[in-house]
Amino acid sequence: MNSNAFIKWIFPKRVWNISTEKKELFLTFDDGPIPEVTPWVLETLRNHKAKATFFCIGDNIRKHPELFKQIIAEGHAIGNHTFHHSNGWKSSTKSYIKDVKRCQEVIKSKYTESNLFRPPYGKCTSAQAKAILEQNQEIIMWSIISKDYKAGLSKEQCYQRIKSQAQPGSIVVFHDSLKAETNMKFALEKTLETYKDYEFKKIEL
Ligand SMILES: [Zn+2]
Repeated sequence: MNSNAFIKWIFPKRVWNISTEKKELFLTFDDGPIPEVTPWVLETLRNHKAKATFFCIGDNIRKHPELFKQIIAEGHAIGNHTFHHSNGWKSSTKSYIKDVKRCQEVIKSKYTESNLFRPPYGKCTSAQAKAILEQNQEIIMWSIISKDYKAGLSKEQCYQRIKSQAQPGSIVVFHDSLKAETNMKFALEKTLETYKDYEFKKIEL
């Protein structure tokens, strides 16, 4: 069992891929919305008739409500990524859940709901995960992490991470953030072009 399989075995209640045999991929964008990057992502997805899921930071929704509403208006799914991008391993369960709920409230205040949650850094404890599941939230992990944010990883290497692993039902992580911008733009366009015969769908559970 490799380390990835081992982690999935320990955390069976977290969603690691979508079970399908159809040619479908599930792109996700974490850490937005921000005006410098998110509009480009929306335009690119629109040009390829692709839908995706945006795991938004609550504080960014608060700062950029119009951009957040645009994501919804364009038919994408929204997920909760905490209000302050909290690291579960460094937070008490109480303060972590408070940050999750605060993000949920700002999502609701913009007239939408989400039952999708992704822990920042992929890090939350079993107690935190249990509390989130009890609120009828699904914990969405990933099949492929592009590492678009990683300094030292070239844009081609970033794209190759996706190309070497993608299969029907894969959940792919990108970031609509300044740090990831260059690699994400390249890898996203290449992915959309390479997988022309795939449908890019938002996550609906
Ligand atoms: Zn994040």
